[in-house]
Amino acid sequence: MACAWIHCNICLRLPSANIRYFISNCGHIACDRCVGKKLLTPKCTICKRDAKIEEINKDLREDLRKYFVNIHDFAIKSFNEIKAIIDFQSKNCRRLMKHKVEKIQELQSTTIKHSEDAATIAKLEAQRASSS
Ligand SMILES: [Zn+2]
Ligand SMILES: [Zn+2]
Repeated sequence: MACAWIHCNICLRLPSANIRYFISNCGHIACDRCVGKKLLTPKCTICKRDAKIEEINKDLREDLRKYFVNIHDFAIKSFNEIKAIIDFQSKNCRRLMKHKVEKIQELQSTTIKHSEDAATIAKLEAQRASSS
């Protein structure tokens, strides 16, 4: 989990081989040396809150591990999920629109048929009136 932004929030030491990092429930990160000097537990030197710590490694709790994911991979995964949702919803929207358009066309042709029928009836009535 070596990312460029990780550093000890207390001594600012950057990651290198054999340095272990810990995160506390207050959200602060400290290196093994600062943790050894009791600068993170039992009280966080930075925010003065009582702190419980966990080592930042592959076994880190899921709710904390999410902050250490590769943001590029996470963004691509999120965009792909958003795209799948948009595709699904627009497919349904298009299906519904197609149905509505067909319904409108059906009503339009029925209306045309009705006005043609009405014109025929009017013509026949006019013929009957003139012949009687
Ligand atoms: Zn440190
Ligand atoms: Zn803190």
